[in-house]
Amino acid sequence: MKNKRENFLISGMFLIVLGAVFSLGLDIMMGSIMGLSGIICFLLGMSISSELEMSPEAIAGWQPSMEQLPDAGRFMFRVDVTLDDPIKSSILCGPCGHIELVDGGKPSEYDCVKCGRRLWDAPEEE
Ligand SMILES: [Zn+2]
Repeated sequence: MKNKRENFLISGMFLIVLGAVFSLGLDIMMGSIMGLSGIICFLLGMSISSELEMSPEAIAGWQPSMEQLPDAGRFMFRVDVTLDDPIKSSILCGPCGHIELVDGGKPSEYDCVKCGRRLWDAPEEE
């Protein structure tokens, strides 16, 4: 899949360059056709990448996107714990949007390393 994507991107680039050369000097019709197909190839190559299934490495390295959670009276946070070894938890701090990766499962209590807010205390219902 990766090679296929690269082929699309390379041939896309190639056709765009060829198209530009053609339309500058030789044949504007030829050039625009080649340029257009180059752009289509390029877009195909780009879209393939987004349709790729997540590789194991990508899943292992996955973490939630940086986002700030709404303030609902108490500090919001989100904890995602990986299912496979090595177990890691990613903690999204709602107030500042910082994401911290810690080894192991969800800690019993946690202070955001960036803004210093205590996100939760032990004991936690779970
Ligand atoms: Zn924070």
